[in-house]
Amino acid sequence: MAKYSTRQRDILLSYLEAHADEQMSIQKIASDLEEQKVSSSAVYRNLFELEKENRVKRCIRDNSREVLYQYIDLPECRSSLHLMCRVCGRMFHLEPEQTNKLVEHVEKAQGFVIDKSETILYGVCKDCR
Ligand SMILES: [Zn+2]
Ligand SMILES: [Zn+2]
Repeated sequence: MAKYSTRQRDILLSYLEAHADEQMSIQKIASDLEEQKVSSSAVYRNLFELEKENRVKRCIRDNSREVLYQYIDLPECRSSLHLMCRVCGRMFHLEPEQTNKLVEHVEKAQGFVIDKSETILYGVCKDCR
């Protein structure tokens, strides 16, 4: 049983890695993984766990109630702040150099240490402005 759920989790993880720049609904993920015999309840359960482990982020767009998931466990995710566009829902990485400047600035000014991997800044992207 444990083995079985590990298998489903592994399939889900490699799928998410392959689609790291995309935001996908649970329905899409579940239907893409159906032929690999991953149940939709396994998709729900594992996404929930991966979100707690901070490996996926849940994204919600302003103009829709649809919940989308994006994999954020790439190496660049840990050294960047994430920027989320409220209009198109896309997530971007702030360059590590810019990230560090911002983090250092806030730390100096406020004595506050920003947790890079946990932080998303919300706004409007270049294409949507
Ligand atoms: Zn990222
Ligand atoms: Zn946008």
